[in-house]
Amino acid sequence: MLKIPVYLDYNATTPCDPRVVEAMLPYFSGIFGNAASQQHSYGWQAAEAVAIARDQVANLIGADRTEIFFTSGATESVNLALKGAYEMYGAKGNHIVTCATEHKAVLDTCRHLEKLGAEITYLAVNENGHIDLAALEKAIRPTTIMIAVMYANNEIGTIQLIKEISEIARKGNVFLFTDATQAVGKIPVNVHEDGIDLMAFSSHKLYGPKGVGALYVRRKNPRVKLIAQIDGGGHERGIRSGTLNVPGIVGFGKACELVMHEMADEMKRQCRLRDQLENALVILDDCKVNGDPQLRLPNTSNISFPYTDGAVLMTELTKYVAVSSGSACTSGSIEPSYVLKELGLEDNIARGAIRFSLGRFTTEEEIAFTIEKVTASVESLKERKIVG
Ligand SMILES: *Cc1c(COP(=O)(O)O)cnc(C)c1O
Repeated sequence: MLKIPVYLDYNATTPCDPRVVEAMLPYFSGIFGNAASQQHSYGWQAAEAVAIARDQVANLIGADRTEIFFTSGATESVNLALKGAYEMYGAKGNHIVTCATEHKAVLDTCRHLEKLGAEITYLAVNENGHIDLAALEKAIRPTTIMIAVMYANNEIGTIQLIKEISEIARKGNVFLFTDATQAVGKIPVNVHEDGIDLMAFSSHKLYGPKGVGALYVRRKNPRVKLIAQIDGGGHERGIRSGTLNVPGIVGFGKACELVMHEMADEMKRQCRLRDQLENALVILDDCKVNGDPQLRLPNTSNISFPYTDGAVLMTELTKYVAVSSGSACTSGSIEPSYVLKELGLEDNIARGAIRFSLGRFTTEEEIAFTIEKVTASVESLKERKIVG
């Protein structure tokens, strides 16, 4: 039996894997200690569970356990990385280079830093969503502290050339921060091979619980230091105070372990289903697939239906299929997505865009059902002459 609406919004969030829930359960009321309580076994057991989870998280991205700092999610990790580095490296300069299609977590943090005196360069992207490497190189100044470019885009799935970006960062003697929330768990990410200095990612985008995430902070070559943005008991080696969310962290760790083992197969399976869906839909209405056709997340398909009214199509479709138009954070407003506008799409094309994002629990049957329902909705809109 299909569960309707079919969930194709995995880039917004994922359900907890049942194996993750199972791993978390003992840590709510059985092993409930405070991981910072070092005088008794309740605390030791909690601390031990956090240590195991820290290793699981570090393993997934090729980091050392001492380079992982637990937070409440990617948004907090982004805030800590940008504000923490800005405050730490004020003597070097006040300039950050970022990209116009970043998630709001990055863009709004940059706006905040601008009010404090930061200078921010927002690089444009081409029609596939890539920044221009020559423009990046040119943007670096003696006062540049950091490049902040996302690993993969949440709306269109475009994967940036992170290794090449890292080489530019190294040459310019600036740190590379990447918001890898959409990449970690979906494609191989290795902080050493990719040359990443700081990296934000989140549990609930990879089948772990909500409200927990991590910031990777490089310890050597180069060593990155941050000023804490939440002060208190000195948890997470003084970088992020506050009693650790032990069940959440245990779940995050388990989710990282699972995703590491299943990634290769899941990439292939989801990519095949995604292409099946995309190929069936693009013939409907002169559709345009947004983002990079090659360098793209295997689960993401952002499709513009140019001759149908995007809002009406969404209303029809979401009875059957849970998808998003633009990002979850900006949907609800009728403004076309800023990411799609940055690609140079005209307003009506951007407004008619729908993001399908698949995941671990997506089935053949769900994709067949989705194709049927999108086809019917588009045909019905065309018949009723509801055009964009
Ligand atoms: C979901 C998402 C975030 C925010 O993550 P939270 O853990 O929900 O705070 C940040 N950046 C990107 C690219 C995302 O997809």
